[in-house]
Amino acid sequence: MPGFEAMKAREEKLLCRTYGRYPVAVERALGSRMWDTDGREYVDLLAGIAVTALGHCNPEIAEVISEQAKKLIHVSNLFYQEEQLDLAESLLDTCHMGKVFFCNSGAEANEAAIKIARRYHQRVKNDGAFEVITLRDAFHGRTLSTLAATGQAKYLDGFDPETPGFRHVPAGDIDALKAAVNGNTAAVLMEMVQGESGIRPLDPEYARAVQDLCREKGILFMADEVQAGLCRSGKWWAFQQYGLEPDVFTSAKALANGLPLGAMLCTDEVSKAFVAGSHATTFGGGALVTKVGSKVLEIMKRDSLAERAQKLGDAFRARVRSLKHPLIRDVRGLGLLIGIELADAETAQKIWEAVLARGFVCSLCHGLTLRLVPALTIDESDLTAFAGVLGEELAKL
Ligand code: PLP
Repeated sequence: MPGFEAMKAREEKLLCRTYGRYPVAVERALGSRMWDTDGREYVDLLAGIAVTALGHCNPEIAEVISEQAKKLIHVSNLFYQEEQLDLAESLLDTCHMGKVFFCNSGAEANEAAIKIARRYHQRVKNDGAFEVITLRDAFHGRTLSTLAATGQAKYLDGFDPETPGFRHVPAGDIDALKAAVNGNTAAVLMEMVQGESGIRPLDPEYARAVQDLCREKGILFMADEVQAGLCRSGKWWAFQQYGLEPDVFTSAKALANGLPLGAMLCTDEVSKAFVAGSHATTFGGGALVTKVGSKVLEIMKRDSLAERAQKLGDAFRARVRSLKHPLIRDVRGLGLLIGIELADAETAQKIWEAVLARGFVCSLCHGLTLRLVPALTIDESDLTAFAGVLGEELAKL
């Protein structure tokens, strides 16, 4: 296996430079451990950015992949496939929704949500509304429309013209939302916990007020559960932590524990907007990925991973808060969606590098907040060890 420097040079030649990579070349991973090409071991507190929720190379998942790969992988959505229906049934058992549309990623799931919102208003309600309101500092994906929904200048740079039909309001300000709503408003789309912008849970009163406003104005209330969903928040879906019932929500990331799979779920009423031919994808919901998705949901339910995420997350946040270090500005999140905001960007970068050097992988959001989204199966001792290392490294500054 080539070492890190050789791999870096090879990549320079071969790949578009879209990623600012970490200085680690990964060779293999198992559970919450990763090993680099020099054989160095890491505790993975990132789980492929909230994707491998059941741990890397989970043996039960590997078994399903292997068996299904010998039976049926892909035939396209021209055909009925039981694997798709089984996963749809399992997903609908976790929530109040009526129908599912499968796709391949979080961005595509959000595209489907945006499309169904427009079509619901334009073909079911016939009021012509098209605009989607999102929150500042949101992240909804990198396709042109989900970028416009994201609305952050740093991601939009160089991609003019911006796709029309989106409006952005500050999170937590219900008056700003009320002022933004007009006759063209089709939907409000938001993350219950803003992930990429530093693990920021919405204020419960605000989130409730958003749902109430949507109901009052006949606007669709849509939740992006791509990062927070699937037990990570301490419930199946983060909106359930808030006691809310969106009309539409999206999922991806952990849905097939590392295989590409996304889903848009909606009420029966909203689903009237899509008819045969309204929307489609070649790969979405293929037999292999949906078979894996069903196993993921089965394991999450069997092993009570939502409750586990809540318990471990609460204990970890309390432990980090108890460090009472002046350079820790905030410790926040829900379940195993954890943000540790540090005093300034320089401190955050130093700490991120120091913990990596000691074998702990996490990410840095907006240059200020350490993000931990580990596997929901992680040993509590790994989290405890990280808190200890964090305390030691902060003490050195
Ligand atoms: N929505 C949220 C909340 C996300 O965190 C992400 C990715 O980080 C996306 C959407 C986009 O998902 P994907 O990268 O699978 O397109």
